[in-house]
Amino acid sequence: MLARSAIALRSSPVRVSGRAPRRPPALAALAVLAAATLPSPAAAQQPPTLQAPRVVASGTTFTVSGTAAAPGRRLTIQIALNGRWRQLAAARPRPSGRFSRRVRPRRTRSRYLLRAMTATGLVSARRTVRSRHVTLSAVGDVNLGDAPGVAIDANGPRYPWTGTARILRSADVTFGNLECAVSTRGAPVPKTFTFRGRPSALAEMRRYAGFDVLNLANNHVGDFGTRALLDTVSRTRALGMRAVGAGGSLASASEPRIVERLGLEIAFVGFSDILPASFFASADRAGTQQATPANIRSSVRRARRRADVVVATFHWGVERDTRENARQRGFAGIALKAGADGVIGAHPHVLQPVVRTGRQIVAYSLGNFVFGATSPITARTGILRVRLSARGVEGHRLVPAVIEGTRPRLRRKRAAVLARRSGPVLARSAIGLRSSPLGLRSSPVAQPAPVKRTISAAIDSPRSSWRKCDAPSTFTCSPAPGIRSTKTSPARG
Ligand SMILES: [Zn+2]
Repeated sequence: MLARSAIALRSSPVRVSGRAPRRPPALAALAVLAAATLPSPAAAQQPPTLQAPRVVASGTTFTVSGTAAAPGRRLTIQIALNGRWRQLAAARPRPSGRFSRRVRPRRTRSRYLLRAMTATGLVSARRTVRSRHVTLSAVGDVNLGDAPGVAIDANGPRYPWTGTARILRSADVTFGNLECAVSTRGAPVPKTFTFRGRPSALAEMRRYAGFDVLNLANNHVGDFGTRALLDTVSRTRALGMRAVGAGGSLASASEPRIVERLGLEIAFVGFSDILPASFFASADRAGTQQATPANIRSSVRRARRRADVVVATFHWGVERDTRENARQRGFAGIALKAGADGVIGAHPHVLQPVVRTGRQIVAYSLGNFVFGATSPITARTGILRVRLSARGVEGHRLVPAVIEGTRPRLRRKRAAVLARRSGPVLARSAIGLRSSPLGLRSSPVAQPAPVKRTISAAIDSPRSSWRKCDAPSTFTCSPAPGIRSTKTSPARG
């Protein structure tokens, strides 16, 4: 639409009354000189200038700025809509002549054409601002110790990422669950499996694979004690990444960590529902943020107040269960109700359903990513690509991958085949979900959904009662089933 109007504007320029007459270059130079020294009638004839970002995130607020020759006199920022200039905002230049203003076009377009106009009708040069979605790539469990650590020692710290670094780096924001401590200190705590990776491996996760945000709220970040846990947090931050869900106290572990891309602020918060309980942080103990309804509500709400988009990440579920359980649905529902746009889970070591409704998405488990995968089901993985705007989730895709040994490799060409064969999880996320979020045509359990479903229905209802849940207003979640006990399995992860 805007493209068309921009062309129209170009072919038949809008006439502005009081436009400054064209002058010979020498006179114009003199006028500029005069404007720089003393205000004069000539200066008042100078058109305003306008600066704007070249690209912004869809739907986000951005700053335009510029100068005008008449300080204190009202000036309008205008936007071209359907071939006509309309007022977007007003500004009053400071005594220095400079002005700046936050603006947000009401209708989201892929291109905005802007200009500034003074009260006397002088106009600035036009500025084109492109607008696009911000892409988030998310992956499941990344372990830099154990079997991947052995492979890294043998092949170098880039080894885990050689098959996926390109696609991971290409996203605006890349997220994963770091399922180990990263430190040269500490000793293993009494526990069946303890994972610790080398700092050089973490550095390449940042530099080569392009990770921006790591969840540390899980059952392995504390494997080598508090000092190693705090090292993991500080090393992650020192590399320029955000560390979410763990810290020196509960206050720090629950703090939303924000990344900004093209003006869009995305806040991440992390929660762990997996034992040992000794890993959970308290007011005066370092550790992870435990997934409790109270923690989820307060952390997500805080994030909501500070950012355009909120992603809540959970370490939860039962290992090797390909379906989410009622406890996961309960926690996801609480997070969404508190204002999360996305819920991203891990820990079961297998993929679980990805459900998107409206502008919210829940990926119950993204499975393993860099991990010693011992069976076809735990080797099956993917990269969740989510398109974000200031309004939330605009689209998503699960790019299938498979872990060979410890290293994931893309499986793009076989995506369709895989989706058909692998049952509901990949089928829903890889093909069917975009147009019909809960259609689940390939699911052996679910039936074709009623025309309108809500995310609350999807999350709150046990799988066996999909058909019962169709009330859009029912957003209450029942955390009760999960709060009493935490199911853990002796297996690693
Ligand atoms: Zn885990």
